Amino acid sequence: MEFENLRLECECGRDMNKIKTEWKGIEVRGWKCSKCNEEIINPLDAQKALEIERARKKNLLSVKLRKVGKSNVVTIP
Ligand SMILES: [Zn+2]
Repeated sequence: MEFENLRLECECGRDMNKIKTEWKGIEVRGWKCSKCNEEIINPLDAQKALEIERARKKNLLSVKLRKVGKSNVVTIP
């Protein structure tokens, strides 16, 4: 399904405009209602953002583990 060309209608009945916004610090496409400012994130981009976030967390974790590993080496005589 092609979300890109989807026309969305807000709960308030107004057509939503295509926007680019930021979610979790990652640029995503989505839709926004000009009346009530309701925002919907493109599901494909939301998925991508979640994957990027997961990868970032994994990197953070491996950096932490590496630091722990290093300090262990230092404390071993
Ligand atoms: Zn609305």
